[in-house]
Amino acid sequence: MVTLGVMNMHTPLAEKAIPFAIPENNWDASEASNMSESELLLYRSNLLGADLTVTNFGGGNTSAKVMERDPLTGEEVEVLWVKGSGGDIGSMGLDGFSTLYQEKLLALESHYSGDEDDDKMVGFLPHCTFNLNGRAASIDTPLHSLLPSKHIDHVHPDAIIALAASSGGEAATRELWGEEIGWLPWKRPGFTLGVQIRDFAKANPNAKGAMLAGHGIICWADTAKDCYDQTVRLIAEAAEYLNGKLESAPAFGGAVTGAREDRAEIAAGLMPRLRGLMIGDRRKVGHFSDDAATMEFVGSKDFHRLAELGTSCPDHFLRTKIAPLTLDADRLEDDAYLAQSISDYRAMYGAYYDRCKRDNSPAVRDANPVVVLVPGVGRMTFAKDKATARIAGEFYLNAINVMRGAEAVGDYIALDEQEAFDIEYWLLEEAKLQRMPAPKEMVGKVALVTGGAGGIGAAVARRMLQDGACVMLADRDEGSVETVHGDLAKAFGADVVRSVKCDVTDEAQVAAAVAECAREFGGIDVLVANAGIASSAPISETTTELWDKNFDVLSKGYFLTAKHAWPLMEGMADMGGTSIVFIGSKNAVAAAKNASAYASAKAAANHLARCLALEGADSGIRVNVVNPDAVIRGSRIWDGDWRQERAGAHGIDSGDELEEHYRQRSMLKRSVLPDDIAEATYWFASEASAKSTGNMINVDAGNAQAFTR
Ligand SMILES: [Zn+2]
Repeated sequence: MVTLGVMNMHTPLAEKAIPFAIPENNWDASEASNMSESELLLYRSNLLGADLTVTNFGGGNTSAKVMERDPLTGEEVEVLWVKGSGGDIGSMGLDGFSTLYQEKLLALESHYSGDEDDDKMVGFLPHCTFNLNGRAASIDTPLHSLLPSKHIDHVHPDAIIALAASSGGEAATRELWGEEIGWLPWKRPGFTLGVQIRDFAKANPNAKGAMLAGHGIICWADTAKDCYDQTVRLIAEAAEYLNGKLESAPAFGGAVTGAREDRAEIAAGLMPRLRGLMIGDRRKVGHFSDDAATMEFVGSKDFHRLAELGTSCPDHFLRTKIAPLTLDADRLEDDAYLAQSISDYRAMYGAYYDRCKRDNSPAVRDANPVVVLVPGVGRMTFAKDKATARIAGEFYLNAINVMRGAEAVGDYIALDEQEAFDIEYWLLEEAKLQRMPAPKEMVGKVALVTGGAGGIGAAVARRMLQDGACVMLADRDEGSVETVHGDLAKAFGADVVRSVKCDVTDEAQVAAAVAECAREFGGIDVLVANAGIASSAPISETTTELWDKNFDVLSKGYFLTAKHAWPLMEGMADMGGTSIVFIGSKNAVAAAKNASAYASAKAAANHLARCLALEGADSGIRVNVVNPDAVIRGSRIWDGDWRQERAGAHGIDSGDELEEHYRQRSMLKRSVLPDDIAEATYWFASEASAKSTGNMINVDAGNAQAFTR
């Protein structure tokens, strides 16, 4: 209910700006005491990268010039160790560094005659490789090779970029550091920037570093420790300076909209609708955040003016696109408004491409917004996978911090549009994109799996994750689902798995689980209704209670999950549709002796699947059923009573004999395992079965009674 009680549902407006965090100096002399020069470089890099107030994810690079023995000539040569292409200085190991002959790097300048040679110079870098190191040198290498200093750090801390992207930044730099730190105008990374920094250092022998306008800072020292100390100190001084300015006035011109108390619900309702409108080659995964800095920004007086300007640091805008899409919180229920907003954004992006493209520019890329901002609600990001969406959001948070600081000392200056375009559509960047392997089948898709803590549920989740899906595990057993969640997160990464407590017989819990999936990932592409129970009793002993319990879980539970996931799945019709898979049972088609309640409830669910297949076809929702039989291993329904009861019904022991009994009973004489059910479920979930709906597959090692007809 977006439009109701807007005023009194907001939290009070904050009066003080959020301050910049001050980085700490974490150098441990005893830890560093026995390290080699390259190990010290790694130690310093990891310390810097681990602190998000020092540099953003994947940003920044560090170097040291080290004497090494040449493996070919045996002579001592100077080698530049510099963070290579890709990776992150916070988590990298020694193999993340490129190693290059410093002498050869310096000789490259004979091939350079000016700005227009920047791209050409990149091609020479591999010729300077020392010791056959396979780590590609990054485009920032000349920033490190041309400067004579032994140790160099180049980082992008929010507090530094805030100064670098402000009209008052140059004066503030002089006020703060005098001759110690210089100021160089914006220049995109490359050989020319390296030459400019080198020439600046030569002309200013007292300087220890330089601010790079719109970008970050580079600073140098004689030892690894001095370099680290200096980098941390400069960032701390910039942050303290900005905090002093922020104390006197509220951020972004003051607050006008407080954070809505129902913002999480609004995001859950909004994200699947936006995602369905973002037509493109592949579907996207969403990420929602309502952190304090975002809420301060989107609720501020200057929000629209600043958001429109876009981001500054190239690291930021490469992840976030030139500008975010901003939405009016009072019109979120209006479908036509949302559709028009996305379409306008795509047109704006197309116009930017047309204005800035050059003769040899790569073709226009996906025009959908990455960052969506709503006052009072927060920030949503959409990208090809969950990690990319989350990281894009974090980069926008960096951009917000930059704008807050920049506006406190002057006017925020965004990156020039043509400069932004030239980086975004840089031919070398395009070559990197073209080399990327095709994404796996399920990348961009979100699966909700009920009964996710059980043997079949966990196997289904694992199978989806293997091919790149995001998975929300829902289960009424909170402890077990958390354990499975932990195991899967360890195997596939924390970004792609979530879990929620959900009893499928409780409509409110089902609705909440669906909303959680929408908020965590942006929607649902695959629903696997799997939560089940089993019971065994002759008709005379089947109580009404037992009958109802079976129908509650197996029939009503399937109905409720499908009903609540339905609106989200319908919305993906234009993106190739969605898939519902019911985990049925052999007993849904074959009569079972002494299990009438269970078998009848399963039969009801299977017929529900056929009805939904008919109803969903127009919206691209496919509905199919996998019928397992006797999947004993890892199953929770086979624990306890049901196991005893079925063993009793067959007159055998309930231990290993039971599994053997079912194996022998099957036509193929094979045991049916959770992974077998997962494989069939995966097939129905994937595009491989795109032409199939209203069907069922038996996975029972052969059972003539269950043959469909
Ligand atoms: Zn940089």
